[in-house]
Amino acid sequence: MNSETQNHETQNIAGENSPRAALSMRNIDRFYGDGDNKLHILQGANLDVKQGELVALIAPSGAGKSTLLHLAGLLERPNGGEIHIGQNECSALSDRQRTRMRRFDVGFVYQFHHLLPEFTAKENLIIPQLIRGLSRKDAGERAEILLNYMRIGHRAEHRPAELSGGEQQRVAIARAVANGPRLLLADEPTGNLDPETSEYVFEALSKLVRTTGLAALIATHNHGLAAKMDRTVTIENGKIIDI
Ligand code: ADP
Repeated sequence: MNSETQNHETQNIAGENSPRAALSMRNIDRFYGDGDNKLHILQGANLDVKQGELVALIAPSGAGKSTLLHLAGLLERPNGGEIHIGQNECSALSDRQRTRMRRFDVGFVYQFHHLLPEFTAKENLIIPQLIRGLSRKDAGERAEILLNYMRIGHRAEHRPAELSGGEQQRVAIARAVANGPRLLLADEPTGNLDPETSEYVFEALSKLVRTTGLAALIATHNHGLAAKMDRTVTIENGKIIDI
């Protein structure tokens, strides 16, 4: 079955429909340093993440998880290989185009929420949409829908410091998808939470991915959460392999 058939029925209310894998990394090389100090993190690595698919990335510290997420999120360029987001081959894009894609096609969630402290939860969701060009009214409506969806609507008018860790992360996830990205990249999104809260936040995240047809790549040390995703990959000898 080709990817067009596979994704044919995938509904995507968050972004545009794409007939291909949302993320496709092909033959990726990434190294730091040179000569004797050369550290090869990825060497001929391949990874596809389809719409609506949740992929866990588990690997020991220093294996290259952040590097992989930074490459997929266009924060870094690989030394070799191709990265496709939707139908765009990103190495061919200018820095300006890459910034645009990073803003609108990719959502990031970090271990710590990175919400703007002086703004309310709702404003934190409105701001990226205004940058995209939406009206304040439309942005506000979408912010409310997403906050309600993450079951945090009742805290919309609160600033991050007035929210619990789990609430902050739910707002951060809602913000990451405010502009309807194709791809959600998360680096230890529940790493800072207690097990029960972490479970709750993950459930909300996974429901969002399933409903919107986003593709999600989630680095985690939590094997329990990884087991609930569609697939788990790791980095070994410079390659990305299923485990
Ligand atoms: P992880 O997220 O799995 O802990 P990283 O992707 O952060 O791993 O790092 C992988 C390896 O690459 C580590 O050994 C790290 O020290 C090294 N590394 C990461 N970024 C750089 C850089 N900018 N320059 C040199 N080495 C780096």
